Amino acid sequence: MTRAMTSDSLRPACFVDRDGTIMADTHYPSDPAQVRLIAGAAQALAEVNARGIPVVIVTNQGGIARGYLTEAQYETVRARLESLLAAAGVTVHATYHCPHWEPITGPCDCRKPGLGMYRRAAAEHGLDLARSVYIGDRWRDVKPGVELGGLGVLVPGPDTPDDDVAQARTHAHVVPALHDAVSLHFAALPRAIDHVG
Ligand SMILES: [Mg+2]
Ligand SMILES: [Zn+2]
Repeated sequence: MTRAMTSDSLRPACFVDRDGTIMADTHYPSDPAQVRLIAGAAQALAEVNARGIPVVIVTNQGGIARGYLTEAQYETVRARLESLLAAAGVTVHATYHCPHWEPITGPCDCRKPGLGMYRRAAAEHGLDLARSVYIGDRWRDVKPGVELGGLGVLVPGPDTPDDDVAQARTHAHVVPALHDAVSLHFAALPRAIDHVG
């Protein structure tokens, strides 16, 4: 893909899935008391902060369309997660969520693996999508990175389907922990920056 539009003023970002990647996946959490950080996740994101790279959480919340939780409940869960992360020294620069579920609300461009949330984040925060990393426990979290010319990294969890791991092994990367995914991004950045010049 062309990098002609890439500008030095655009920053790489760390796009990270929420459920099953930063916090335990409790399936449609609607109560802040359900929020549990995955071991090592906060430390990994603190390293991203230390590197000056924005942390952007990107999460599918189809349970809102399906009536399993309200937008207000989603907000309380988001706030709890951000406060636990803040207590661990992590700044979350932005969070985007897709509240849709196609059979109920029709097609949308934001539900992952759609690119809508990433494009919106890039426009609102001056992010370079091709120098960003796309991390999650599902192929749908990683595929956008492949499509946007960035670095896609799957961190499988107990609920990750085998086919998602196979897709990521073929087209992207698979590592054991969030920390390994951010390290891969740090290692890739200087080379990506060279390409810009
Ligand atoms: Mg997930
Ligand atoms: Zn959507």
